[in-house]
Amino acid sequence: MRAIIMNRRALLKAGGLAVAGFGFGGCRTTGAVAPASTAPRRPPLRLATPQISFDRIIRTTVGLRPHRDSGFVLKAEKVGAKTVIHNYGHGGTGMSLSWGLGVAVADLAREAGERRVAVLGCGAPGVCSARQLQRRGYDVTIYAATVPPDTTSNMSLAGFTPTTALVMNERRTPAWDAQFLRAAEISYRELQLLVGRDYGVYWIDTYNGTDDPNRRVGGGGNENNYATDADLLPDYLRPNRLRDIYGPGEHPFPTPYAVRSIALAIDPNKYMDAIVKDVLVFGGKIVIRTFATIADLASVPESVIVNCTGLGSATLFGDTELVPIKGQLTLIPPEAGVNYRAGGRLPGMETGASINPRSDGLVIGNLQVRGDASLTPDPEVIKRNVQAAIDYFSKMKG
Ligand SMILES: Cc1cc2nc3c(=O)[nH]c(=O)nc-3n(C[C@H](O)[C@H](O)[C@H](O)COP(=O)(O)OP(=O)(O)OC[C@H]3O[C@@H](n4cnc5c(N)ncnc54)[C@H](O)[C@@H]3O)c2cc1C
Repeated sequence: MRAIIMNRRALLKAGGLAVAGFGFGGCRTTGAVAPASTAPRRPPLRLATPQISFDRIIRTTVGLRPHRDSGFVLKAEKVGAKTVIHNYGHGGTGMSLSWGLGVAVADLAREAGERRVAVLGCGAPGVCSARQLQRRGYDVTIYAATVPPDTTSNMSLAGFTPTTALVMNERRTPAWDAQFLRAAEISYRELQLLVGRDYGVYWIDTYNGTDDPNRRVGGGGNENNYATDADLLPDYLRPNRLRDIYGPGEHPFPTPYAVRSIALAIDPNKYMDAIVKDVLVFGGKIVIRTFATIADLASVPESVIVNCTGLGSATLFGDTELVPIKGQLTLIPPEAGVNYRAGGRLPGMETGASINPRSDGLVIGNLQVRGDASLTPDPEVIKRNVQAAIDYFSKMKG
């Protein structure tokens, strides 16, 4: 087995965009000149060039992905007189899988036979579980120490990245795989149905600059030996499935080729507000409350409790397998015309460059540092990610 824990420097290097999960593999180009036979077949694609500089930074956000090497926990157990349905440990996929996992939660709640349910946690997994329960007639109260915008879910990039930093191949089981596949299928469909309906879910063109258009990238994150899209997803669920290759002279990026795919993206702040509002509109309640120990569960009136506390499950339920994977995003103001995602890496660049436009800003870079629980932005990572974006996108042909 490959070493699971990389040294910090190697991870920071990888953090630029191999972790973005939108197909930006950050493949280092060789700078090789494309063969003469690849003359442009069509007029060059015209895209607005982003204006990136350090003085345009408006904020940097940090979030901790709740990772478990054996993948998320989705099961019911008895804790004293309560039935606890666990739904936590989603790594870099919590925004992607929540609707489907919520259906599985509702199935487990049906077996418990009660109509009143408590949901612990107000991130995407908690709120989507609450909504799937409400759709099936349950009376739901969410209890949470923090609510949007103060959740990890609000700090995500975010988009349909159902395999990112989720599970190690060698820790998968057939039963877990079946849970995963069902969740991915249901979620992909439900997220698509939210497009154009004020939930901040949309399709967006994504350009991956490369010198080898046949190299498939994205999903998972092999630096840590996590399972990838290729390991976990049937072809019809792969986010980068629909590809269009632009050759030399056909695109504005400073790499020989650009591979366009279409990604399902989420504006996390808009999305979280919209789904929380739905919980309230459909009669749910939200109670701000911290549960210090497992004994505190006895104090809620509901006898069925859905645990969506993410990393909080490490202390609340003693799950020692949970490990934080730090993520960090830097934003500049949104730019008119920059309505596409892009990433790439040129020879000599230590970090890949990436941009992701959202309504609340143009996101630059990303990060995955396993085991780092600090919520403080790392100035070195800001410097590296923004400089990489300046180096790469300033070479775009305007
Ligand atoms: C930079 C970054 C980029 C990402 N990009 C993507 C992406 O593109 N696609 C994707 O699918 N995912 C992405 N993710 C991952 C995604 O954000 C997480 O998987 C998801 O947010 C985890 O949700 P959660 O419910 O576990 O955590 P949270 O959203 O933090 O919710 C946990 C809830 O539990 C509550 N809680 C915890 N402990 C207690 C307690 N003891 N008592 C009471 N309440 C408690 C908290 O207050 C909170 O309300 C990204 C993450 C980061 C950091």
